Amino acid sequence: MASYTSKSEVDTAISTLRTTFASNRTKDLRYRKWQLKQLYWLVADNTDAFIAALKADLNRPEFESRFTTKGLLEEIEYHIDSVESWAKDEVPNAGIIFSKLGKTTIRQEPRGVAFIIGAWNFPDSLTLHPLASAIAAGCCALVKPSEIAAHSAELMCRLAPKYLDSEAYAFVSGGAAETQYMLTHKFDHVFFTGSTPVAKHVAAATAKHLTPTVLELGGQGPAIVTKTANVDLAAKRIGAAKFMNAGQICLSVNHTFVHPDVHAKFLERIKYWNDTFSSNGQTDEMCTIVNERNAARLSGMLEKTNGTVVSSGKSKDDNPKKLFPTIVSNVKMNDSLLSEELFGPILPIIEADHITACKTVSSMPHPLAIYIFSTDQSEIDYILDHTLSGGVTINDTLLHAGAKEAPFGGVGDSGSGSYHGRYGFDTFTHKRTIVRLPDFLDIVMSFRYPPYNLAKAGLALKVGKPKFKRGEKLEDQRVGKGWSRLGLLSAVVGVVGVGLAAWSGKLGPLVGDW
Ligand code: NAD
Repeated sequence: MASYTSKSEVDTAISTLRTTFASNRTKDLRYRKWQLKQLYWLVADNTDAFIAALKADLNRPEFESRFTTKGLLEEIEYHIDSVESWAKDEVPNAGIIFSKLGKTTIRQEPRGVAFIIGAWNFPDSLTLHPLASAIAAGCCALVKPSEIAAHSAELMCRLAPKYLDSEAYAFVSGGAAETQYMLTHKFDHVFFTGSTPVAKHVAAATAKHLTPTVLELGGQGPAIVTKTANVDLAAKRIGAAKFMNAGQICLSVNHTFVHPDVHAKFLERIKYWNDTFSSNGQTDEMCTIVNERNAARLSGMLEKTNGTVVSSGKSKDDNPKKLFPTIVSNVKMNDSLLSEELFGPILPIIEADHITACKTVSSMPHPLAIYIFSTDQSEIDYILDHTLSGGVTINDTLLHAGAKEAPFGGVGDSGSGSYHGRYGFDTFTHKRTIVRLPDFLDIVMSFRYPPYNLAKAGLALKVGKPKFKRGEKLEDQRVGKGWSRLGLLSAVVGVVGVGLAAWSGKLGPLVGDW
């Protein structure tokens, strides 16, 4: 395995990125498209090598690797197809002075030199997907894959200079200490994917430079199975989320609340699906836990649980990193299994109705995801209204992350900022308002120059009449298409007034409000 990038190599790489960004070449749209296409070929030409690296890092089955690689390629292609329209100036409706007499545009400026820090659980997509957004935005980037998925990191660091402009996109390797050193440099943007505790170190380091920082984190995302849920489907889909990548997914179901009325059936069904997915503990087609440290962490949590282990999760051999989904029922919220994000194939089940579940969820840090299993819209609405999370999938798991042109990101302890599609482009982009006003504006706005003269300003300083009346009450407020009593009254008076004026032939030309 290649050794970590030295401090002097890091310094040189960052200084080269600065020079490249200052040369403006990464801003050229043709250059961005070309580099995005090169990124596409980096993945497409080497898919088999990525699959082999993921197998070596995580024992990831080829099916899962092909599935995520396909998603990554599609996302890069979407960036290639969309970059031109994303990079166009926006033209806001800024009012008569700024849009009619003058011109106002919002320029999509690349933030500059970005630092992308990847996580190990999807080492390729979590590193290369943000890079695609940085390239599309016209940024340069220092890119550090996670050292824990060492084979994938080595592959990306080796391939990047062969495909990408390494003066603009520099891949480096390193662990916690090396990343901390990299963060002593001033970047124009930092994009971090990883755990909440490490994010605090990253955010503290970037705060020293006031560097905008996107944090893509995890958390204890629950599933809530209500009494009206399709219990078998819920069990199948929750079981599948715990199986995929051995539950080592930021979006995975951490624990599940199940209504007492359907609890027994849910346990029976999830046990059935677990046995089916793992071929009764015989399959080799499941990821292992990434390393011994994490395997020991998970087995330590299991040893301390006061819950009831429903299905053991034992594999056919004694490899501690091979842990099949393990179901634990009768779990209380103070159980060892709920002491931190599990990030593994253990599923604690808590017997609770959706109202109690919401109280518990909202008393904890906001998770990255919540999964609602219910067929009753009022239950779904209740859960949405009484919780907050990065995203939600209803009657399934994980899938909101795949919704095209929808932001993906956390809230509170599960992160800040978002990406995917246009949102990724925007993340690496500064929205720069450009206003250009004509010289002749002085004819109508000469009053603004000192010495100030209130009389000369005349109507310009007059605050217009608000469109609402003093003393309105809560019941007068309407949202959507509804009419307030006052609004309705004004409309009636207006219509009658206009009618009378027209009838009496006194309707003059309509005058603009300027
Ligand atoms: P991690 O926080 O341990 O490491 C992430 C990155 O930070 C790695 O590149 C690592 O080298 C670096 N790092 C580690 N310690 C550091 C320190 N002290 N200072 C600076 N950098 C440091 O996370 P992980 O174990 O790689 O990934 C698992 C976590 O990431 C889970 O919490 C999971 O929920 C979260 N995650 C979130 C997303 C998302 O998109 N929201 C995706 C995947 C994983």
